[in-house]
Amino acid sequence: MPTNKKLLILAGDGIGPEVMTQVKRVLDWFAKNQALKFDVEDDLVGGCAIDKHGMPLTDETMAKAMKADAVLLGAVGGPKWDNLPFEIKPERGLLRLRKDMELFANLRPAIVFDALAEASSLKTELVAGLDIVIVRELTGGVYFGSPRGIETLPNGERRGINTQVYTTSEIVRVARVAFELARKRGRKVCSVEKANVMESGVLWREEVTKLHKAEYSDVELSHMYADNCAMQLVRQPKQFDVIVTDNLFGDLLSDCAAMLTGSLGMLPSASLGAPDANGRRKALYEPVHGTAPDIAGKDLANPLACLLSLAMMFRYSFDLGSSADLLEQAAKNVVAAGFRTGDIMAAGCTKVSTTRMGDEILKELDRLAK
Ligand code: NAD
Repeated sequence: MPTNKKLLILAGDGIGPEVMTQVKRVLDWFAKNQALKFDVEDDLVGGCAIDKHGMPLTDETMAKAMKADAVLLGAVGGPKWDNLPFEIKPERGLLRLRKDMELFANLRPAIVFDALAEASSLKTELVAGLDIVIVRELTGGVYFGSPRGIETLPNGERRGINTQVYTTSEIVRVARVAFELARKRGRKVCSVEKANVMESGVLWREEVTKLHKAEYSDVELSHMYADNCAMQLVRQPKQFDVIVTDNLFGDLLSDCAAMLTGSLGMLPSASLGAPDANGRRKALYEPVHGTAPDIAGKDLANPLACLLSLAMMFRYSFDLGSSADLLEQAAKNVVAAGFRTGDIMAAGCTKVSTTRMGDEILKELDRLAK
């Protein structure tokens, strides 16, 4: 790389700093062995920022995130901060990052390592080798539409209102992310809505179809109703490559797909913004799991979700596909060799700590790079 890329690390609370320590060791490995130099800066988000600054994300940290080429986040929150007012809860820090960076596309891969296929609640043959991505629209739809609220009607009944609303540009930009992603994978996109009962779904389908015809006819496009997609995900998940859907359906379907993989400690994610004039997108990478207060500080957490988020960063922010492949392969091999943190432990395997999992990943990177 010609210039060093700026990386902001926000380890957060609970197991966040523990898993992020392993990420930094792996970043050092790539700096030393593959000349991938990043300017890494650390800062606070969530409960630790509340403790130091009285708020979950300061303006200074937000400004650093806006300037960074990528932000890598651990997790935020924990019982210590549960009773704070809503406006200064740890999660507000994360929500502000997503909002101010305008991260409209949330990428949630559901990948099942063969060695872990038995941990899924589905039959092994249905999930072994599964590799799909759900692209969820993150900043629009029913969670943000107005009118919204709870009102009392003249007859004394109460009515709750939320509005599903999407514009052409909101649909097109997230569909574009899905098509671009599919081009780097299996070249298949399934667009999911409820066009049978919702006008916003009709518009979604029309706009995705138009964009496909105009720019992405090399990618196979199919459409599916969201309820059917939920069924298909548990019936035959391997039929999918990339699924693109709105905020509400994506919320549900990505959690459903996540469970196909069997463990929270294995799930990475990326949230992307619009490309600027130089093609650079704002981006936030984070594991799907939370701060796991029950095991925090005990060197027990699985660092792989965070490491796989780093691999996503290599691939999507820096076009370093081969480095991403290498790191993902190392993770697969270490798990296949039977090294397991408690969350993915199985009979006959070796139970390892967070640090030992990091050690094994580094050893495997050394071995693969020879
Ligand atoms: P959680 O994901 O923290 O934990 C759920 C269960 O999974 C726990 O038993 C935990 O030990 C286990 N687990 C999670 N990650 C693991 C890992 N890497 N290795 C091994 N085991 C792991 O969810 P929760 O318990 O509902 O929430 C705990 C705290 O985290 C709450 O304060 C919540 O608000 C916060 N949270 C934050 C985020 C985020 O920062 N994105 C996401 C979810 C929850």
